[in-house]
Amino acid sequence: LEEEVGRKHIITYEEYIGKFQKMIRSLGLNNSMQREYVLKVLFDSEEHLSAEEVLQRVKEQYRVKIGVATVYRILNLLEDMQVVNALSLKGMDSMMYELNLSQHHDHMVCKSCGAIAEFHNKQIEQLQEKVAAKEGFTMTGHTMVLYGICPKCRKEGE
Ligand SMILES: [Zn+2]
Ligand SMILES: [Zn+2]
Repeated sequence: LEEEVGRKHIITYEEYIGKFQKMIRSLGLNNSMQREYVLKVLFDSEEHLSAEEVLQRVKEQYRVKIGVATVYRILNLLEDMQVVNALSLKGMDSMMYELNLSQHHDHMVCKSCGAIAEFHNKQIEQLQEKVAAKEGFTMTGHTMVLYGICPKCRKEGE
């Protein structure tokens, strides 16, 4: 019952940035190019990125001077806006970031190489709702991370 979680977006970047700019205006903030560079890097990325990796890609792609503190400030704002998901993963020094664009999914992390896989399981999702309701909770979200050894590292260990 595992469903494929694709990282292909059903929205173009132009549509996406249009929506984002509307959100920014509704918050009374000004547009910022640096913020849009960070968004584009995350939009184009196939994988989850640390703030350092976001910084490197912004520098490489846009040839701008930007510091890691600025990247963190932008990522924190995007997280508050629920535009970005920040994942805190065991065994990793930094948070990993992804755009909150694709369908909800959870993560599996390889303790050996740090590979991050995504999964979505309807039964697990429904069970969580049930468990929360049983305790009188209205569920507003959850974080589920499975840790283990990925297929590639398992092969190498054989
Ligand atoms: Zn691995
Ligand atoms: Zn993910």
